[in-house]
Amino acid sequence: MNKVFCNNCEKEVLPVRPMGLGTLLMILLTCGFWIVCIPFYSLRCGTCKNLLSKENIQKAKQA
Ligand SMILES: [Zn+2]
Repeated sequence: MNKVFCNNCEKEVLPVRPMGLGTLLMILLTCGFWIVCIPFYSLRCGTCKNLLSKENIQKAKQA
């Protein structure tokens, strides 16, 4: 996983994906299809837990 710029920390951070019961439930409800959506949803800063902006995630993917 590439590092993503966090607007809050004002530096590049390792993104974390909070995998809760809700995520598990969605995977079951969508017969696993939700896994495809996970990379695009709710990536958070590993340092401050701030939600990372989609633009910054896209930039990190292109890099
Ligand atoms: Zn941060």
